[in-house]
Amino acid sequence: MNAPASPICWLNGRFLPLAEASIPVLDRGFIFGDGVYEVIPVYGRQPFRLAEHLARLARSLAAVRITNPHDDATWTSLITELVARQDFSDQSVYIQVTRGVAKRDHAFPKDTVPTVFMMSNALVTPPAALVDSGVAAITATDNRWLRCDVKATALLANVLLKQLAVDAGAAEVVLLRDGPDATAPRRLTEGSSSNIFVVRDGAIATPKRDHFVLPGITLDVVAELARAAGIPFEERDLTEADVRAADELWLASSTREVLAITSLDGRPVGIGMPGPMYRRMITLFQQHRSERRP
Ligand code: PMP
Repeated sequence: MNAPASPICWLNGRFLPLAEASIPVLDRGFIFGDGVYEVIPVYGRQPFRLAEHLARLARSLAAVRITNPHDDATWTSLITELVARQDFSDQSVYIQVTRGVAKRDHAFPKDTVPTVFMMSNALVTPPAALVDSGVAAITATDNRWLRCDVKATALLANVLLKQLAVDAGAAEVVLLRDGPDATAPRRLTEGSSSNIFVVRDGAIATPKRDHFVLPGITLDVVAELARAAGIPFEERDLTEADVRAADELWLASSTREVLAITSLDGRPVGIGMPGPMYRRMITLFQQHRSERRP
């Protein structure tokens, strides 16, 4: 029997089997986590919100002062070819750009060419049972750096936080950032790999976009769908008390779409089941993405 073929990836200017792709150990992505990334969902071989993902990639690269290796037209054709080369039609394209390979020294190396890597995995959207039941989450203090708006590959804090959730049998950790002094309430930021929404009295709220939060592309979809449906939607400061008093809590990301958080720290959120606002939003979301607007 033949071994299954290794999926095709892209590394530094060529397509090759993932199993054959390798980079030097002195790559600054490996040594320092000195790079940025993107994850783009692909439905029926159509990248979803590609322009927005490429714009965020450009912003992340600019924030860490790595020259964007490609213009949007080149990214688009590379992604299109990568997607066409996979065996499956729903995919999640992963792009990573690092500052490149250089002798280990914190300061930027001179004349180093960025490392560019792309792969595509099968996209497994949440099964209907999870959409129907919701997921458990726990809270934790947000101890990440102060540039969470940059999609940096240095994700150690997110990794450790997510593991707290997994150890507690939960799917996500809802992050609360300490206030400026000991008397200030903790503020909701986001999840370890998702944005978080608080629903109260028929209105949706999510923290406003600042350096504490990744500007999620799925968040934008939720905001657009809410506004188009006439559902009140606001971006504002949310405290721990707002989170604990929520009728519904949701998480959203490119690979998990929108999921209801039905228990928080072991206590039910609202009625302990996905609420009516969630059911309305997930219907709108699924309709919208089945239209496969690029
Ligand atoms: N916040 C964090 C920390 C994330 O890792 C993600 C997932 N990339 C998100 C929010 C959601 O972003 P998006 O909807 O673009 O996937």
